[in-house]
Amino acid sequence: MSARDPRYDILFEQVQIGPKKTKNRFYQVPHCNGMGHRYPRAMAEMRGVKAEGGWAVVNTEECSIHPSSDLSPGALMRLWDDSDLPVHELMVDKVHEHGALAGIQLVHNGMSVANYYSRLTPIAPSNIPVNNFPHLHARAMDKADIREFRGWHVDAAKRARKAGYDIVYTYAAHGVMTLLFQFLVKRYNQRTDEYGGSITNRVRLIREVLSDTKDAVGDTCAVAFRFAVDELMGEVGMHVGEAEEVVGLLAEIPDLWDVNVADWANDSLPSRFGQEGFQEDYVRFVKKLTTKPVVGVGRFTSPDTMVRQIKSGVLDLIGAARPSIADPFLPYKIENGLVDEIRECIGCNICTSGDHSATPMRCTQNPTMGEEYRSGWHPMRIDKAHAKEKVLIVGAGPSGLEASLALSNRGYDVTLSEAGEELGGRVLKESRFAPLREWRRVIDHRTFMISTRPNVETFVQSLLSSDDILEMGADHVVIATGSKWRGDFVGHTHSTAVPVERGAVVLTADDIMQGARPTGRVVVYDDDHYYMANVIAEVLAGEGCQVVFVTPASDVAYWSAATLEQQHVKTRLLKGGVEVIRDRVISKVGAEAIDLECVYTGAIRQVQADAVVCVTSRIPDDKLMLELTSVQDRWADAGLKSVTAIGDCFNPATIAMAVQSGHRYARNLGQPVQLPRRDLGLGGE
Ligand code: ADP
Ligand code: SF4
Repeated sequence: MSARDPRYDILFEQVQIGPKKTKNRFYQVPHCNGMGHRYPRAMAEMRGVKAEGGWAVVNTEECSIHPSSDLSPGALMRLWDDSDLPVHELMVDKVHEHGALAGIQLVHNGMSVANYYSRLTPIAPSNIPVNNFPHLHARAMDKADIREFRGWHVDAAKRARKAGYDIVYTYAAHGVMTLLFQFLVKRYNQRTDEYGGSITNRVRLIREVLSDTKDAVGDTCAVAFRFAVDELMGEVGMHVGEAEEVVGLLAEIPDLWDVNVADWANDSLPSRFGQEGFQEDYVRFVKKLTTKPVVGVGRFTSPDTMVRQIKSGVLDLIGAARPSIADPFLPYKIENGLVDEIRECIGCNICTSGDHSATPMRCTQNPTMGEEYRSGWHPMRIDKAHAKEKVLIVGAGPSGLEASLALSNRGYDVTLSEAGEELGGRVLKESRFAPLREWRRVIDHRTFMISTRPNVETFVQSLLSSDDILEMGADHVVIATGSKWRGDFVGHTHSTAVPVERGAVVLTADDIMQGARPTGRVVVYDDDHYYMANVIAEVLAGEGCQVVFVTPASDVAYWSAATLEQQHVKTRLLKGGVEVIRDRVISKVGAEAIDLECVYTGAIRQVQADAVVCVTSRIPDDKLMLELTSVQDRWADAGLKSVTAIGDCFNPATIAMAVQSGHRYARNLGQPVQLPRRDLGLGGE
């Protein structure tokens, strides 16, 4: 380990935030995680690991202040009464253990909650349907409601101080998600009293809540204000003209400005739609209007970009959610001259799917994320090898690469054998599509790390057979040979193959990734509902094909709503000239036309097409695994103790799950099999 590069010294300066001082400029902004009050030990352990990794400030996710802001069945934080305190104390203690400041993002979600559990009436600035639950309505708050709301916020702030938090938020960001933002924008606030109309009136409640919070806890806690400066929808929403007025009106009231763009899908913008630092142009103005410190985000993983943000006067603190998830030890690595070892976020947003499914989040790059408590995994520590043994890994996709790295960290001798010309497997192929180019970081991190390990030997263009393997003298063999995309349309909708006429051109996703290109009018058929079909549609349309995107679902790529990609994907396809046909299954592929059957009526519609790209499902490439299993009687003579399939070869899934599978194999080798720990709630339900 070497000393830090002096160019990065500025990142380790302290920053005064009201009555508190940070130890450096690394600031983990509030972010959801699917743990919250429901999995409190998992949540606390995860936050504690970030504090250990050098983040000066570690915040909660949004924390509901009252049962009228009930996000059930979401797994977020709550501070409704004292019975919720133990969950918070658990987290605060873990964060303080490592000398970091703990922050809490108090929220009332107003018209964005259905209150399924509490059964209370949703409240809003005006009478309006509940967001995402339009069959329900939120009631316009009267003056008594406003007084009550202010009281709840004060009570929650006092409880937050009691739990030991250092920073207490007032939160008006992420668009419709927060009541205070609903008051701020005209489309939700149609009031005619002193809380509606002019921007001064629409800011009034925020000013009151900020002042209440400062009066209640401001002597000992810093009071932060999180504000979305732009909703990227022009004058209908918050935009730079109004945002400047808001910052001007509140400039010196909060101790810290935490600024970003809205909505969440714009804030946590997937890498397919924006690069590191993408928020800079929107938030730059804030520091010119306040003397208080400013924190902002932009999927920062490069210390040079971070330094530039500080030196050019855009930010005082480097905010991060995803980069802190992908690498909780990012500040530690910069401080200790290990910049090359940073595990950079790829912007895939698998992490946000944890919030959508209300289960502890996982991360493509960081397999220990969400496993800190459950499995006791730490991103920087792993048990030593149980014995001096050799492991042969066949296949260098994400599962094989991760298994190699983690096994080498344990001290095993590893041989990694890959049939292709380069390491990377499916990630290599997928990241050759321009929209997914940043996903290559999954390969880059692991190939760099294993290149520094004396105990890993890597071979490319090395296609192994079962006989080869038995001759190699390994104690353990790991089969990580991946999966293949089907071309017979079997998938979620069809359980048997679809008839294809002679002369029809059917290509698989693998064909396209290997460089095959249809011409003319092309149907891309999506029964996978995530990214592969729409990336292919985008690429082919960009190359001049006339693309028709067909799906049996009622919308394009519905699962990608969980990764905040869906709205961007659909916009991009439509703007790229792709015709979208929904609610149709493919029932026959002809040489010139394709039959599409309505999923509701069975009515057939024909579309002309020169070719069809089939993106429905994958099958494991487990031929080698089956061959080895069939010669198990020869293992002992070959000195072979175990053969294990991992990743897509075992079960095709996401890249995150392939990485996780490789990591779990490495953790478990030679260890007694243990079930992960359960995490039972602590606070009142
Ligand atoms: P995963 O997602 O599980 O890591 P991938 O499909 O990404 O799986 O990677 C599998 C890799 O295994 C591919 O790069 C492929 O070339 C390689 N492979 C498949 N069969 C063999 C074999 N017999 N010998 C060596 N490498 C193989
Ligand atoms: Fe980044 Fe993807 Fe990990 Fe989220 S899941 S932190 S986007 S690498």
